[in-house]
Amino acid sequence: MHNNNNDLTLSAPLSGPVLPLHSVPDPVFASGAMGDGVAIDPLNDTLHAPCAGQVIQIARTGHAVTLRAANGAEWLLHLGLDTVELQGEGFALLVEQGQQVSAGQPLLRVDLDHVAQHCRSLISLMILTNGEHFELRHLNLSSVKVGEPLLHVSRRTDAPRPERSRADSSEQASALIRVAHRGGLHARPAALVRQTAAAFNSHSQLTFNDKSAPCTSLIALMGLGIGEQDEVRVSCQGDDCQAALQALLKTLGSALADDAHAPAPAALQVPRPASEDGVLQGVCAAPGLVCGPLVRLSAMELPEDSGQHQPESQRLALSTALEQVRGDILRTLEQARQRRDQQEQDIFNAHLGLLEDPTLLDAADAAIVQGRAATHAWSAAIAEQCQILQQLGNPLLAERANDLRDLQQRVLRALLGEAWQYQLPPGALVATQELTPSDLLQLSAQGVAGLCMAAGGATSHVAILARGKGLPCLVALGPVLLEIEGGQTVVLDADGGRLELAPDPQRIAQVQEAVAARRQRREQQRQQARDPALTRDGQPIEVAANVASSAEARDAHQGGADGVGLLRTEFLFVDRQTAPDEAEQRQAYQAVLDAMGDKPVIIRTIDVGGDKQLDYLPLPVEANPVLGLRGIRLAQARPELMDQQLRALLQVSPVQRCRVMLPMVTEVAELLHIRQRLNQLATELGLTQQPELGVMIEVPAAALMAEHLAKHADFLSIGTNDLSQYTLAMDRDHAGLAARVDALHPALLRLIAQTCSGAERHGRWVGVCGALASDPLATPVLIGLGVRELSVSPPQVGEIKDRVRQLDAAECRRLSQPLLDLPGAVAVREACARHWPLNP
Ligand code: PEP
Ligand code: MG
Repeated sequence: MHNNNNDLTLSAPLSGPVLPLHSVPDPVFASGAMGDGVAIDPLNDTLHAPCAGQVIQIARTGHAVTLRAANGAEWLLHLGLDTVELQGEGFALLVEQGQQVSAGQPLLRVDLDHVAQHCRSLISLMILTNGEHFELRHLNLSSVKVGEPLLHVSRRTDAPRPERSRADSSEQASALIRVAHRGGLHARPAALVRQTAAAFNSHSQLTFNDKSAPCTSLIALMGLGIGEQDEVRVSCQGDDCQAALQALLKTLGSALADDAHAPAPAALQVPRPASEDGVLQGVCAAPGLVCGPLVRLSAMELPEDSGQHQPESQRLALSTALEQVRGDILRTLEQARQRRDQQEQDIFNAHLGLLEDPTLLDAADAAIVQGRAATHAWSAAIAEQCQILQQLGNPLLAERANDLRDLQQRVLRALLGEAWQYQLPPGALVATQELTPSDLLQLSAQGVAGLCMAAGGATSHVAILARGKGLPCLVALGPVLLEIEGGQTVVLDADGGRLELAPDPQRIAQVQEAVAARRQRREQQRQQARDPALTRDGQPIEVAANVASSAEARDAHQGGADGVGLLRTEFLFVDRQTAPDEAEQRQAYQAVLDAMGDKPVIIRTIDVGGDKQLDYLPLPVEANPVLGLRGIRLAQARPELMDQQLRALLQVSPVQRCRVMLPMVTEVAELLHIRQRLNQLATELGLTQQPELGVMIEVPAAALMAEHLAKHADFLSIGTNDLSQYTLAMDRDHAGLAARVDALHPALLRLIAQTCSGAERHGRWVGVCGALASDPLATPVLIGLGVRELSVSPPQVGEIKDRVRQLDAAECRRLSQPLLDLPGAVAVREACARHWPLNP
């Protein structure tokens, strides 16, 4: 068997007939969605390691193991089909996560009889999950015995080059395009380019100034030094080259949402006044005025490297560390996704791309082969790329070197096993050379009051995150910042671009007073938040909150919410191995009702499916998940799940305070069906009272049918997030389209108006629970079109109530109608700002 660093022959992990993937009776595996590989219909009861390697993952239910071979290939060994449903029964693990195993070592024993009786099939899979780096050759496609050669895998050393196209086709397409992204092709747009290219078989590359870079490498893309409005050539080779080319042209030709809105870098920068004693001048990256103790943070330094290390162990150490950091970033991304923080998602998506970047990985690997320690090889690979970015003469690209340093520090910490937690007093002002995005997230969670950096720029990712978190931040304070001893109280006047190092007691008192006054204003708003919101001419508007748990409901109630306008019940169903039973659901919904005092609570039935899959609820793979089996459509696919949830909802008390709401309704029959189920279940439970039943208007069909739906529904609530997505045919999570998925588009306003007039005919009320309800610019339009309830993000209850109190409902009605005839969302926003200016 010929094995070297890149090539590996894998032996059969099981005995039995070999099947090509496409004949496996499972759409996910058969389509190759999980990766290329092979299947075996097993005749023996023990799964053996097909090669030496490390166990990097074990399924919670013990039916699958992932092994990383020495050449980096990752193999998922999956026993049987749908065996996740057995919850571990019939499987005995013989290894542990993280364990090194030798070729042929037994990994997992399976009770063939039990699994065969309880599962769809015993057919087992061996899948290469990171196939983009490797080439696979089948050695045996008839029948094998454990240990016999089965597959050959070799690492692609030149994957980025077009001649090693994933698609064997020699078809080519190319075109020129001007790059629209503000500041050029920096990390986030480059990540978008990479993501776009990855959706196609073709190999794609960009060429600029006689230099080319494959779209697979963020670093190579950034290294081209492409500036805003520079013309680049996009070339694609492969069977779908035309489609790939069109998609890439679109990605390059449309600016990122936040970049389009962000002020030009210069606008954020405060001109530096002449220097003053005891004051450092910097550039405002996030506004605010605070005072507190200055605390110094330093980056990690490495000791000398002997350069005599065993490449295999160092390679393994690095890949384990990379995997750990990858897992951490994925968790950050998931949290950002739940908060719908698109900017944070974009930034850490770019980090994920950098972490897999072939330019970096190859450079680190080359150093490891020469005997360098994984720590030093990784550090040097990053340092080299930082230098390249800094020499391009584009300040925005130079700032992206900081994202690389972020990954340098994170991976070093993982390699050295260092805990990553700064010890800081609350309210500290942190001083450092330059913070990285992940440092910032952690410091923000620890309650720091402000940030001061010797280097950095106002358009860096750290600056974006600091603005998002409301943390005052100064950058470019110069190296003298690092000479200051920590401990003393300083004043950070980010608006004025000043760090005052020796404020006298009077100045400290003045800043403390300003901070207290601001706090007091917020407090006042909070206190008034509990009062009802009436327009100046007496129209009451209910301002409720969107929540996902009883803890959030408690906060919302304390914050003055008039009710819960949307409880997303998905929180109960995700991140677990089994469905919550009726009792657990009932308890969870009751807890939300209890947390809301005497206020009403709208509970939306489960809205999973599509791209939100549950481990215990296998649904078919869909080509277009957002147009597939999601929301109320799940009631048809899994009626028992819907009945269970309805039973739980029927039994909360007092049921009059509970309103049930159905997501993704498109026609009256869906509503009538649930009405009928509620009646039937209430009878079975011996209940005489039922909750109100409402419908979400989040599909254009529902808005157009509002009058008919309102006839049978107790209320309607407009989900502007999905309604925008489906009306404008723009993915609501598409980073490149985020600025255009605007619910103030006149088309949406027409649907909202139609919903309100349809509801009025049957005396029903209409609410808005999508993000538009939390946008104070939209408040007068929504009131003007007839909306009576706004369900907002909990911290904004006070602000939106305040806004309602400043408005005249009759004037809102008069001025809203003409907005429906404006040409687009930008015009609507401009008109709103003119008619109803926001408070400064
Ligand atoms: C919406 O679509 O506007 C909505 C409120 O539902 P979700 O964001 O949960 O899809
Ligand atoms: Mg929705």
